[in-house]
Amino acid sequence: MQERILLVDDSLFICKTVLKHLDVHVDLPVDIAHNLEDAMRLVERDGQHYFVALLDLNLPDAQDGEIVDYISMHNIPFVVFSGSESESMKSMCEKHALMIDYVNKDSVYSINYLGTLINRLQKNRNIEALVVDDSSMCRKRVVNKLNRAMLKTHEAATAEDALIILSEQEGIKLVMIDYNLPSMNGFELCKRLRDMPNHKDLIIIGFSGVGDDRLASRYLKSGANDYIPKSCSQEELLCRVMQNLNMQDFICSYRDASNQDFLTGLHNRRFLFASLPRIQANAKRYKQAYAVAIMDIDHFKQINDSLGHEAGDRVLKSLASELKDRLRESDMLARIGGEEFCIVAENCDRDKAALLFEGLRSRIEDTVMFSHGDDPVRVTVSIGVCCDSDLAFDEMMLLADNNLYKAKEAGRNRIKIT
Ligand code: GH3
Ligand code: MG
Ligand code: MG
Repeated sequence: MQERILLVDDSLFICKTVLKHLDVHVDLPVDIAHNLEDAMRLVERDGQHYFVALLDLNLPDAQDGEIVDYISMHNIPFVVFSGSESESMKSMCEKHALMIDYVNKDSVYSINYLGTLINRLQKNRNIEALVVDDSSMCRKRVVNKLNRAMLKTHEAATAEDALIILSEQEGIKLVMIDYNLPSMNGFELCKRLRDMPNHKDLIIIGFSGVGDDRLASRYLKSGANDYIPKSCSQEELLCRVMQNLNMQDFICSYRDASNQDFLTGLHNRRFLFASLPRIQANAKRYKQAYAVAIMDIDHFKQINDSLGHEAGDRVLKSLASELKDRLRESDMLARIGGEEFCIVAENCDRDKAALLFEGLRSRIEDTVMFSHGDDPVRVTVSIGVCCDSDLAFDEMMLLADNNLYKAKEAGRNRIKIT
């Protein structure tokens, strides 16, 4: 059974507003209970499927927050809806191991925050964090706070252990570093982590129990993304971690978008050229040849003219997915112009290239790109290939382009390879 969210609130209006805001951020079904009795019935039936519960403390049949004890007993993490952002909410958050956060239900802004919080928690379950602190008690305290935010955690007692764990675990996205460590302080570890090539996007948050007011700025100058004092509340830690993870997601999505062709989802020309040094270095290191091909759809303009621009777009998407399916992970495939694609096939000599590109050409000729009414829409492609990988990439592109021109001149739907 699919995971679900449990929403317990006696106000129909609040439930409706919450549902509306959740819908924008989260793709999970929500079960609603308007009182403790209904909530108990739902939990008895499906308790293990609730990924999180959203709880109003004042229900018609339980006016003193009894719902919290009941939900805790069933081990379901929960967020409390409260009428105010009072001190009691903060201390309740510190006391209940399963309480993630609280949200003021009187403000639309807070209810929207609830949506982003749930969305973050869902993502967090696949995110690994590392806590570096020589005091096991402090480490456990931070680990516990991160686990409440649903992050997976690793622990290191020394900077050396942290470096080993990070070199082995490429999936770690967030590191929390204590300032006072046995052989290397937090700043030094921070700088070392910033030099690790396989952790370019690591989020580093420094923390410390020392009350030195220069710690924050020194951490930030050493490459950390943020700093928090050890004494910070569950609430503040959650906010800061969430904000840093959200920011990183934004950066990654913008970077992906700038490397991607928006129509087909393939790499774009920019990414192709940025990847060249790596491709050339690999070829040199392993003494392997590689092939550069430029593919162009034949008479594509006719498709636009006869069936419309949208049909043309469908052909481009369909062709892109066909190419993606046919090529290897290691092959570079990019859309470099309107109906022009570039393929760089690694570890590919002339014979292999002839087989690969002739195979692609004939496969495309046989493939129905989509059906327009009852009519199957097909296209053919011409491909120019250059296999002389001793040349510079620009020259290979130029020769592949010349070959493409020759393939077109010779009648299209063919490959020309040199
Ligand atoms: P050839 O066989 O010589 O390559 O003929 P062609 O018609 O394919 O080539 P031409 O360069 O004359 O026309 C290419 C067409 O591709 C013109 C342009 O409108 C269309 N095109 C470019 N980008 C897109 C796009 O993103 N979507 C659609 N639908 N059409 C595009
Ligand atoms: Mg064309
Ligand atoms: Mg063209």
